[in-house]
Amino acid sequence: MNPINQRRLLDDLEALSHFGRGADGGITRRALSREDADARKYVMTRMRALGFDVKHDEVGNVRARRAGRKAGPVVMTGSHLDTVPSGGTLDGPLGVVGALAAIEMIGEVKTERPIEVVVFVGEEGSRFRRGTIGSAAISGHVSVSDILKLVDPDGVVYGDALATYGDEGSPIPAKLASEEVHAFVELHVEQGGVLETEKIAIGAVTAIAGLSQRQVSFLGEANHAGATPMDLRRDALAAAAAWILSIEKGARELGVVGTVGKLEVLPGGKNIIPGRVNAICDLRAPQAELLSAIDAFVVSSLHGIGDAREVEIEQSLLQRVEPGLMDERAISAVERAAAAAGLSCRRMTSGAIHDALHMAEICPSTMIFVPSRGGKSHCPDEDTAPEDLVNGCVTLAHTLIDLAG
Ligand SMILES: [Zn+2]
Repeated sequence: MNPINQRRLLDDLEALSHFGRGADGGITRRALSREDADARKYVMTRMRALGFDVKHDEVGNVRARRAGRKAGPVVMTGSHLDTVPSGGTLDGPLGVVGALAAIEMIGEVKTERPIEVVVFVGEEGSRFRRGTIGSAAISGHVSVSDILKLVDPDGVVYGDALATYGDEGSPIPAKLASEEVHAFVELHVEQGGVLETEKIAIGAVTAIAGLSQRQVSFLGEANHAGATPMDLRRDALAAAAAWILSIEKGARELGVVGTVGKLEVLPGGKNIIPGRVNAICDLRAPQAELLSAIDAFVVSSLHGIGDAREVEIEQSLLQRVEPGLMDERAISAVERAAAAAGLSCRRMTSGAIHDALHMAEICPSTMIFVPSRGGKSHCPDEDTAPEDLVNGCVTLAHTLIDLAG
């Protein structure tokens, strides 16, 4: 095997960071945008230079194959190139160009099974109404026809945006059957601070947290901030504040995470008691029972506070995504790979959703995490030390050889 070419890895990441870089240094590549297409073209050119058979599918995923001794089920690796608005340089791209670096490390070594590098389209959900579009199509979680009908906030239909995205000719089918995929492994930055704090090189992901989001409205009574005594008020924002603090307490007690990141206060005057508050809460847990427990806690706390404060409550479930368990065979392959490379490794769950969640529906899957400096992600400050990036690629290369036989 060859050593990881650190210079080329950093050059690839640097090259991709120019597609969609804004004045604040953040990267904005919305799914199927010009910038996203340019990044994809760069990667496809690199893939062809490596001798891959490069194809694209019906929803815009790229699938590049390195032949094995047998034609049989494939070992897949990869990630996404789209970003959140003003995101970082590593969330997504590391798992794509890191996979190319791992393949270059594998070099002339022949594997039994073919290895495919996949670039998933539309992971972040920052343009169309849902994220993980590419992996949802591959796993069959969402049908291709439903994906092609998605509409962005400007009224652009996915299928139309796709028509100007690539110009590579006719696509292959997106959906893969379980028998066609032997395993999937995704290299990604942790996007949290656990590995850095514990000074551990590699995270082997055991589960991806599920998500429950609720839209909630508190309906109190708007009134004069000076003339209304405290005991005659029905303050919608005070009720929302009590609820938010109860979410914080409940999430801590259950060992999960809960956030209210969106709040609208109406009418929104400095001398008016808030009459209405619209909020969205976001709850995440690595097990379905825990997700249901925090969700039930949040709803019951909502009604309790509404009754106590005589504030009416309206609420509805916006979306629920079930947690995904990673596969023991894939997880232990990552642990063996890290050990072979002399790297420290721990098992951990992913709080963020990734394409591996859908891939786990059709094949044994896991993820390889590398430390994020300061635990930061989804912002221009996202960063990982070069040696940590290389460690991730080395671990991926050993894992691919292990899984591909
Ligand atoms: Zn990502």
